[in-house]
Amino acid sequence: MEGPGEPEEEKCCICFNRITGPCSECEDIIPAVTREECPVSRGVCNHRFHFHCISRWLEEQNICPLDRRSWTFEDV
Ligand SMILES: [Zn+2]
Ligand SMILES: [Zn+2]
Ligand SMILES: [Zn+2]
Repeated sequence: MEGPGEPEEEKCCICFNRITGPCSECEDIIPAVTREECPVSRGVCNHRFHFHCISRWLEEQNICPLDRRSWTFEDV
C-alpha cells in the first residue's frame, strides 16, 4: 500500500503521461479506464511504464526505452 507523500510525479517516458494515471491512448476513453484496464508494468531494471506503452514499444525492440538493456517484466 502506498502512503501519502508519494515521490514526485513519475512519468511514463513513452507517452509522457503520469504513471499514476492512464496512458495517452486510454486517457481519452470515457468513462475513465481503471487501473486494471490500463495497468503499470515494471521491468527488472526498475523502470515503470504503462503496460500499453511498453507493449507497443517491445513489438519493435526488446529493450528498456530508458537504459536500453534487454527488457524483462518484473512480477509485482
Ligand atoms: Zn505511457
Ligand atoms: Zn492504456
Ligand atoms: Zn530500464
